Amino acid sequence: MSAGFGRALGLALDLICPASCASCLAPGGLVCPNCLATLDVTPRRASPSPCPPGFPPTWSVADYAGVARDLLLAYKERSAIGLGRPLALRLATAVRSATGDHPGAVVLVPVPSSVAAVRERGDDVVAVLARMAARALRRDGRSAWALPALRQRRSVADSAGLPATDRLTNLDHALLVRPGAAARLAGRYVVLIDDLVTTGATLTEAARAMQAAGVSVAAAATVAMTRRRSS
Ligand SMILES: [Zn+2]
Repeated sequence: MSAGFGRALGLALDLICPASCASCLAPGGLVCPNCLATLDVTPRRASPSPCPPGFPPTWSVADYAGVARDLLLAYKERSAIGLGRPLALRLATAVRSATGDHPGAVVLVPVPSSVAAVRERGDDVVAVLARMAARALRRDGRSAWALPALRQRRSVADSAGLPATDRLTNLDHALLVRPGAAARLAGRYVVLIDDLVTTGATLTEAARAMQAAGVSVAAAATVAMTRRRSS
């Protein structure tokens, strides 16, 4: 079964079958109001330990556990695309925290998924979240838009399960700014977007790639953050 077909099938099933909450399995929808309410919190600064040099100031909504983990996994791995909107609304709160009192336009730059992940999932799920979060900010009267300015330079192995040092090596110079994107970002308030921050290696590499293209990154926002256990 192709990923695109799997995703379409997931959407069709969402529409015709009574869904259950992706976290607590309560019937009635992809996520129940009680579980969703646990994500209506003030975003916090994510601080990986050790913190890689160049890691941008990053705000996250929740620890990667419980409801946040269940919803992200269902959204990313089980094609529960109806969860995109509630996740993007919470991501938008992290962007608000990341931008503070900045009154001007904000550009959300998603960290690109690997080609393999896009093929598997049928879409770049982080780019979709960034677009939806920008839309939520505009509904609030903020000037915000998403620009997928970064791309993978080369094939990057899936970093899940790699030790922190291997992740940094794996991601070293893995990202590039797309041709023409730097000019569109010049002088803008740029916020990097990812679903999850774990070691900080990915956001650090994204900030480095932007810097190399002459674009400074003001901050980053993610849905969740992992508290890493030392191995
Ligand atoms: Zn629930």
